[in-house]
Amino acid sequence: MSSDPSETAQPRFGHRHCRYCGGLTETRDPTGTHLRCTDCGRELYVNAKPCAETLIIGDRGVLLLRRTIEPFHGYWDIPGGFLEEDELPEDGARREALEEAELAVEIHGLIGMTLDDYPGEEKLTVLTISYLAEPLGEPRAGDETGEVGWFAEDAIPEKLAFGHARETIREAFALRRSHRLFGSSSG
Ligand SMILES: [Zn+2]
Repeated sequence: MSSDPSETAQPRFGHRHCRYCGGLTETRDPTGTHLRCTDCGRELYVNAKPCAETLIIGDRGVLLLRRTIEPFHGYWDIPGGFLEEDELPEDGARREALEEAELAVEIHGLIGMTLDDYPGEEKLTVLTISYLAEPLGEPRAGDETGEVGWFAEDAIPEKLAFGHARETIREAFALRRSHRLFGSSSG
C-alpha cells in the first residue's frame, strides 16, 4: 500500500468502472469526485445523492421515528429518504412520510439543504432537502419504523440519526415560530 500524500484518491466504491465502456477509472483530483476512464478517456463525476425529508411539527412537537434498519439502527430519525429518479423533492418527502409513518402531511416551506456522509461501505454523500410540514392525521409506525414519537423542542433525544438532524430540527422550530405558518391562531 502506498502512502504517498501527493497521489490522488482511489476511485470510490461503485465508481471503479466506467459506466460507458466498463473500463477502469482513475481519479483526477484528491477528493476522488472527478474521474476519468483509463480505457475510453471519458470524464466521470461523483455527485451527492438527493434525499428529502419532512420536519412534521404538531401540537406535541416534532415527529421522529425510531429506525429498525442500519445505519443508525435504534436511533431517532426525521421521516425521509432517497428520491426516486423521476421524483421531485416535495413529492418524495410526502411519500416517505406516508411509507414510514402512514401519515399525510401538508408541506409549508423549505427549511434548507445539508450535506452528510452516509455511513457504510459505499461512502455516499447525501444532499438532504428538508421541508417544514404539518401532520394531517395521526402517525403510525411503518415497515422501517419501530416507534413514532412527538418531541418538544427542549426534549430532543440524544441518539439522533445523521449529522445534520439536530440543527435542522432547531431551524424547523425557529421557522415555524417566525413565520406563524400554521397553528390554531384565528388572529
Ligand atoms: Zn470508458
